[in-house]
Amino acid sequence: MSTDQTNAVVLQRIEVAPGLIILRVAPDEWELSEFVPGQFAVLGLPPSAPRCRACDPCEPDEESRPDKLIKRAYSIASASHWKQYMEFYITLVRSGALTPRLFALDVGDRLWLGQKFTGSFTLDPVPEGKRVILMATGTGLAPYMSMMRTLLHDQSHEYVVIHGARHSWDLGYRSELSTMDRLSDKFIYIPSITRPAEETVPWTGLTGYLQNLWQDGSFAEIIGARPTPDDTHIFLCGNPSMIEAIMGILEGEGFTEHKRRSPGTIHVEKYW
Ligand SMILES: Cc1cc2nc3c(=O)[nH]c(=O)nc-3n(C[C@H](O)[C@H](O)[C@H](O)COP(=O)(O)OP(=O)(O)OC[C@H]3O[C@@H](n4cnc5c(N)ncnc54)[C@H](O)[C@@H]3O)c2cc1C
Repeated sequence: MSTDQTNAVVLQRIEVAPGLIILRVAPDEWELSEFVPGQFAVLGLPPSAPRCRACDPCEPDEESRPDKLIKRAYSIASASHWKQYMEFYITLVRSGALTPRLFALDVGDRLWLGQKFTGSFTLDPVPEGKRVILMATGTGLAPYMSMMRTLLHDQSHEYVVIHGARHSWDLGYRSELSTMDRLSDKFIYIPSITRPAEETVPWTGLTGYLQNLWQDGSFAEIIGARPTPDDTHIFLCGNPSMIEAIMGILEGEGFTEHKRRSPGTIHVEKYW
């Protein structure tokens, strides 16, 4: 890999489950600028970077422009006051251009980290006193980790993190979120899995798709009340089909999508 395009180094690579990693990336002789929790960064690698073994072969056009970095957006998972490194929670897309290369990285390997952090998927539009429900499947949890790691002590909201995955072992950050739940009376963590029959140890938590658990009142029971647009803002992040399914239900209950010119109570970040 040519070194002139890279400006960052892998500090740590944590394998959460097959096809799921936490990557800690440190800037190389430059300072991380300010960002608002919920925003994203851009990671990049050249087409010449090797692909991991557990992926599909490279598309022929990927290597046609060897000097052009392959770049993709990633939500920042680390707190905004952590200045030594940025953390990312990444799922492997086996046929993808960048993730097979990110998964081949090891500690000390170099990559490109964009120096500007942007995005409007933040808590800024939420008025003080409202409950905030942060719902995600898979790596859609990443921006919520940044929000909670930065703002858990903030007393102006009550937070609920709802995280859906196939298996318990795919629930990244489960122990950190469970600890936050135990330590804060303004924070609730609700994990849910869709394939309980495949668990090695019986799963005693919620099971099923998030949209079904919202509709049948399972979340309301844990939260202690049925959330309404008057008292709650809802954030949805990750898989577009999960987002669309939940938005359809929420809109039927009077929630509206937040847009810059028309404030609403549903905030959305689609990953693809
Ligand atoms: C604002 C923003 C924030 C993002 N944050 C994250 C993040 O924190 N973690 C993360 O893993 N990804 C995140 N993504 C997705 C990321 O930018 C890439 O799209 C993803 O990593 C695939 O890149 P790739 O080059 O390997 O695949 P590509 O060659 O770009 O292929 C993309 C195709 O793969 C599919 N795809 C993309 N992402 C996924 C996925 N997660 N699961 C299944 N299929 C997918 C879609 O069909 C898409 O068209 C984010 C995207 C956006 C827009």
